[in-house]
Amino acid sequence: MKFFDSHAHYNDERYETEISEGAEMLLRTLFDDNVEAIVNVGVDPEYSVNCIELAKKFPKMYAAVGIHPSDTRFLNNPEEDVKKIEELLKCDKVVALGEIGLDYHYPETDKEKQKDYLYRQLELAQKTGSKVIFHDRDAHGDSMEAVTAFPGVVGVFHCFSGSAEMAKELVKLGWYISFTGVITYSNARKVCDAVKVVPDDRILIETDAPYLAPVPMRGKINRSDYLQYTAEKMAELRGTTTEEIARITTENAKIFFGIS
Ligand SMILES: [Zn+2]
Repeated sequence: MKFFDSHAHYNDERYETEISEGAEMLLRTLFDDNVEAIVNVGVDPEYSVNCIELAKKFPKMYAAVGIHPSDTRFLNNPEEDVKKIEELLKCDKVVALGEIGLDYHYPETDKEKQKDYLYRQLELAQKTGSKVIFHDRDAHGDSMEAVTAFPGVVGVFHCFSGSAEMAKELVKLGWYISFTGVITYSNARKVCDAVKVVPDDRILIETDAPYLAPVPMRGKINRSDYLQYTAEKMAELRGTTTEEIARITTENAKIFFGIS
């Protein structure tokens, strides 16, 4: 049984500072173990370049390039920054534009700046036909408004945290829904309801590593082989087997990212 990790950040410095063997050695063991493929996701132009470089070292690692809403606070030239992302989209191994979106978790958030970067990147997705990886944290209303404003753009809502109703609405709009180890946490009732309603051909699985390690690894640095635990929970919620979850989520990810 092998898993397709549709969202991880292996360029995070924690893999170098907190794991003795470093990211590259770890990745070698993961691909030998139960990991079929990984999408290594960017959060700003510079980090996105590094994502591509790491992806080039592994046949089954791919990259996404984009500007994360929370990282807009370090950036000040939206036109130039998005132009850099447009160039990176043309690189080998790049399979999506992301992550982009809205994150209103912290009260001092500059929402208008986040929206500016988001809408510019959605325009870019529309122009280039790129699939997007969408980050929505505590911003469900504005996220749905952005998505519906670009009916030609499809993508995946990563680390989905909305309701079952919102998941159904996104599926209707052609979007995919991806779940993390959060579904194994005891306070995750709402998102578990969403796990149950996503059709078999629209569901993805991800770590969001190094964050959000599933129970029983919660609190550790996350890694793609821990998808086993998230898949077990997903299988329980959907009344199926872990093998079947591995199979459908891998097949869906390959179709979504255009990987044969
Ligand atoms: Zn992420």
